[in-house]
Amino acid sequence: MELTEEEKQVLQEAGRILRRMNTDKQRQASAANGKKGGRPQKPLSEIPCNCGRGEDEQHPTSCPRGLAVRRRMKAGTS
Ligand SMILES: [Zn+2]
Repeated sequence: MELTEEEKQVLQEAGRILRRMNTDKQRQASAANGKKGGRPQKPLSEIPCNCGRGEDEQHPTSCPRGLAVRRRMKAGTS
């Protein structure tokens, strides 16, 4: 099957429109995420703790959970 130049252009344009729709969808999705306060945050209890303090909130910064707690306090989302 041979496409005319006009048909090729129509197909190209259709492809452009479809890609644009996709980008719009992605933009809307990230905008919706932004409304919820940015990146989804893991609950602190899911962040690994290597200092052995468990559910205690006072972890040293050498502990991944302690780092996460500090980062959240700084961001004001704790
Ligand atoms: Zn810890």
